[in-house]
Amino acid sequence: MFKKFKIKTFGCQMNIYDSQKISDIFYKIGFKNTLSDEDADIYVINTCHIRNKAKQKLYSELGKIYKIKKNRYENKKKTILIVAGCVAQAEGKEIFKRAPYVDIIVGSQSYQKIPKLLKKINKKAEEKVFVELDFEPKSKFDELPKDKFTNEISSYLTIQEGCNKFCKFCVVPYTRGPEYSRSVEEIVDEAKSLVNKGTKEIILLGQNVNAYHGLDLNNRNSNLGKLIYTLDKIKGLKRIRYMTPHPKDMHDDLYSAHKDLEKLMPFLHLPVQSGSDKILKEMNRNYTSNEYLEIIDRVKDCRRDMVFSSDFIVGYPGETKKDFENTLDIIDKVKYVQAFSFIYSPRPGTTAFNLKDNISLDEKKERLIVLQKKLKFYQESFNKNFVTKSLEVLFNNSFKEKEYQSLGYSQYMQLVRINNKINMHGKIENLKIKKSFYKSLEASSVI
Ligand code: SF4
Repeated sequence: MFKKFKIKTFGCQMNIYDSQKISDIFYKIGFKNTLSDEDADIYVINTCHIRNKAKQKLYSELGKIYKIKKNRYENKKKTILIVAGCVAQAEGKEIFKRAPYVDIIVGSQSYQKIPKLLKKINKKAEEKVFVELDFEPKSKFDELPKDKFTNEISSYLTIQEGCNKFCKFCVVPYTRGPEYSRSVEEIVDEAKSLVNKGTKEIILLGQNVNAYHGLDLNNRNSNLGKLIYTLDKIKGLKRIRYMTPHPKDMHDDLYSAHKDLEKLMPFLHLPVQSGSDKILKEMNRNYTSNEYLEIIDRVKDCRRDMVFSSDFIVGYPGETKKDFENTLDIIDKVKYVQAFSFIYSPRPGTTAFNLKDNISLDEKKERLIVLQKKLKFYQESFNKNFVTKSLEVLFNNSFKEKEYQSLGYSQYMQLVRINNKINMHGKIENLKIKKSFYKSLEASSVI
């Protein structure tokens, strides 16, 4: 009988990638995946620390699993509970205190050690727990299984981890450590193996992805632009995207890649956070709103149909009404087609944590509503433009009811749905769009 594992993932694309790698570790040592909490012999919670509610979410999840663990124990079944990811990295000891039934806590740079930790746990008393919170990205990538046990049409590929930018609000430099870039060879090998397994789109991931500086075959530092030129040559790979870049790290080779390479999609998530120069300085973002707009223009000069998405923080300490209006102005100038926007939430351990918060919660909420209304307007208008026109869609999900319902993404990251008699999974097709919504499109037929 196979032992079974389940992974619950919170947070960003990087965490999804890490969870896929953790799955590969379990497959390699003979486990099977289960969707049922009650069936899991090993239950992993892969945590995210970016938003305020991360801890509450973790403890509510732990409480739920604790009850299941107790029930299973009464039925003579052992459950190993593992907490991984950024909350584990940042708050390991506290988790042990508050939830002593957790068996393993493993930081975001050490999850490759899970098989060893499992062996230790099986040898010693059940209550023993182990902490692995080192920053060792190189050995992590060296030790992770090279084989991929699942196949996705669209796959994440981490090329860079950590960050040296120290934006004052951000926990990443503390939870993921300093910048580390994988070698070009390692990345190309992983990309080829993904494509051989059926991947058609690769999304290159890094906390500060365009700071990538891994070694090339001649032992020289490469950059993201050069890496994309190399990946572009892989036969069978149809689409390339990257996230999350920092405006300051856009560079000549990357602009050229946007100009030259059809496979590099015309959608760029380029976080601005605020449109106020004063707030950008306070945040330690290292660019002004004008510099940001010049970068946007330069990318658009490389490819006329480029569109953009962004992250916004509303109500950062010291943000006046005028600062907020500057953020609204930048939205009007760029006309983002997607965005993530949040009220500022102080993260323990960051420089901004102790800043005096001078804005009432009601005011912050009001600003967020105004900002999101504007963002919604631009996203809806952008989607509306495509009704009766055609769009190329890569399908990564298809299920059958009376007929097939297939879901995929356009070049511009719009979710597109079509109902027809064909299973579209894995296909790239031009579709005629019949309806648009705030966050998606519906197609009538394949052209
Ligand atoms: S560049 Fe991004 S990851 Fe790095 S500190 Fe700033 S917000 Fe965090």
